[in-house]
Amino acid sequence: MTTLGIRGAFFDFVDDPWKHVGREQEAARFHADGLMVIEDGRIVDFGAYDNIAPRHRALEVTPIADRLILPGFIDGHIHFPQTRVVGAFGEQLLSWLQVWVFPEELKYKDRAYAADAARRFFDNLLAAGTTTCQAFTTSAAESAECLFDEAARRNMRLISGLTGIDRYVPADYANTPEEFYRESKRLIGRYHRQGRSLYAVTPRYALGSSRALLEACQRLKSEHPDCWVNTHISETRDEIAAVQVEFTDCADYLGVYEKYGLVGPRFTGGHGIWLTEDEFGRFSRSGAAIVFCPCSNLFLGSGLFRIGRATDPRSRVRLAWGSDVGAGNRFSLLGALDEGYKIGMCNNAAVTDAAEAERNKISPYRGFWSITLGGAEALYLDEWVGNFEPGKEADFVALDWTAGPSALAWRQSLVGDRPRTVEQAADLLFGLMMVSDDRSVDETWVMGKRLYKKGE
Ligand SMILES: [Zn+2]
Repeated sequence: MTTLGIRGAFFDFVDDPWKHVGREQEAARFHADGLMVIEDGRIVDFGAYDNIAPRHRALEVTPIADRLILPGFIDGHIHFPQTRVVGAFGEQLLSWLQVWVFPEELKYKDRAYAADAARRFFDNLLAAGTTTCQAFTTSAAESAECLFDEAARRNMRLISGLTGIDRYVPADYANTPEEFYRESKRLIGRYHRQGRSLYAVTPRYALGSSRALLEACQRLKSEHPDCWVNTHISETRDEIAAVQVEFTDCADYLGVYEKYGLVGPRFTGGHGIWLTEDEFGRFSRSGAAIVFCPCSNLFLGSGLFRIGRATDPRSRVRLAWGSDVGAGNRFSLLGALDEGYKIGMCNNAAVTDAAEAERNKISPYRGFWSITLGGAEALYLDEWVGNFEPGKEADFVALDWTAGPSALAWRQSLVGDRPRTVEQAADLLFGLMMVSDDRSVDETWVMGKRLYKKGE
């Protein structure tokens, strides 16, 4: 058994800050001098150093000084095979897929190409402080295998699955529904709940799916009800219009996934920018989640997600945040918080409901909850990750509030040499999300092992 202690300033969450309007700090937990005890990769004890240390006399303690230690970030929506096509110029969603994405993703039939990309993918995630992701692959099983294998090598938590598409895609890229079913089934047997891997039945999006492909997804989900389901929904208005033409028997976009029995707990739809009021209500009641991908929504010009609507307590929707690389132009979830904050503010240029306007404001509590415990709850991962409760897996990131642009110096001058209260820590975190970027990610740890150190 390997036991180690980490001593430093810890910041995590015990509740949803949107439930604590005006007193959001009650949802957070801060130990200016804390101790985390890790046994075989799992947290076994956590709290203020003076309380915890006497219980572990012979403990070997690693200090992480002058950093804010947060749970590893959770990216709820990312495309592994777009690692090399980030920042492609000049198209919106449907033409961007045809011009840039499908030609690149087609290369992932080549196992060596896919394996090399998987290494780059996780290197990028770790450098951004992200320790868990839900990822799309391609229509080729090689891409899913390379991704799961590389995650297992690093012992990282991953939700993924073969990504099915058979319409509006080059013929040499398309799955047949039969092959998609057979290969998904094989991959579920090989990877689902093996180590830290979880399998998601993954129809790419409704417009790219024939009825036979959606029936294959339905069969997979009914035969493996504890698998996840991951897809896209209501990203752009021309996409929604096309879905309505294809699926005249469904009242709306969410109705397509409902018709095939996919919507419920462990279902996630990326984006949801243009959801109707009725769809928001059905998301809320079903326990399904939306993933908000601010960088992507702005990069492709898809629209402004109504975060204040999704967080309405009368019909709250489970909400994770995602980078959506490569439509998102950076891996960093600090970058997503930056752009998400601005989307909330843009919404408030038009919102007249004062309560919704308040909910559109992404405070540091709301932001960092969203990419840690909130993301874990949305994706049904909170039994394993999301905060520092004993029993959870020891994934964490050490953020350096002195690194990055000089503009951060102003926030430090408000706080002093180090944060002593939860409010001071949150103040620094707001500086990190609005002014800084990956430069502030100093170390990233996975299952009690340091896998990334800046500059090494
Ligand atoms: Zn996406």
